[in-house]
Amino acid sequence: HPAVRLDRVAKRYRNTHTYAVHDVTLDIAPGEFFSLLGPSGCGKTTLLRMTGGFVDPTEGSVLLDGEDVTGLPPNKRNVNTVFQSYALFDHLSLADNVAFGLKRSGVPRAEIRRRVGDMLDLVQLGELAGRKPTTLSGGQRQRVALARALVNRPQVLLLDEPLAALDLKLRRRMQVELKQIQREVGITFVFVTHDQDEALTMSDRLAVMNEGRIEQCGTPEDVYERP
Ligand code: ADP
Ligand code: ADP
Repeated sequence: HPAVRLDRVAKRYRNTHTYAVHDVTLDIAPGEFFSLLGPSGCGKTTLLRMTGGFVDPTEGSVLLDGEDVTGLPPNKRNVNTVFQSYALFDHLSLADNVAFGLKRSGVPRAEIRRRVGDMLDLVQLGELAGRKPTTLSGGQRQRVALARALVNRPQVLLLDEPLAALDLKLRRRMQVELKQIQREVGITFVFVTHDQDEALTMSDRLAVMNEGRIEQCGTPEDVYERP
């Protein structure tokens, strides 16, 4: 099965007259780093939200690992999401923020400590594990959100411009790290960006969107070597 299959999905938001997404059909393979690229307002986030269950399609269906999940809420899907705006628990330390989901699923304490430690090291926040999110910069908070989403090892990770708030240097480093993480853990990444270079350097395949439709889809070479 594809990790994600969007079958003729379309979305028209309530009280709007035009479709934000028109008739999109797309398969994303297990373990693939797949980007949705296109200008603001072209429907990338809407497509991602339909995959995650935050928005229901007006038409069509969403399948995850061969299972039709159309209409199921986010917590009934084996996906995790990192949003543009991180939502962390301000009263918990970074480590407890990252550990939150693991504790709820009953993972043994020693394993939680190890996985949280490894993940915080990976996003270069190991030294700050005991700090509260309010004492961090925006970029640091976004890295905590990333660590928190990855530590659960979801089958699919949805990322909505997760690096947009980071300064250029850190952004480059995180691009490389994200790619490494994705290869190591074998999780399918669906990555929304309006940055063409970012999509080119990171993606196994990408879809170029415009006005709610996919205009091109393929490897970076397929998409950019075409006249
Ligand atoms: P992108 O992520 O590519 O910037 P979006 O999916 O956010 O695009 O938006 C696609 C279109 O849907 C835009 O015209 C946007 O204004 C509209 N839209 C997005 N969210 C909503 C919403 N909650 N209600 C109404 N229209 C929306
Ligand atoms: P994006 O998700 O593409 O960054 P924005 O930052 O423009 O979108 O929008 C912020 C929030 O407002 C999102 O939750 C989006 O769904 C919503 N939104 C966007 N366009 C509209 C719209 N035309 N009507 C209502 N809500 C919208």
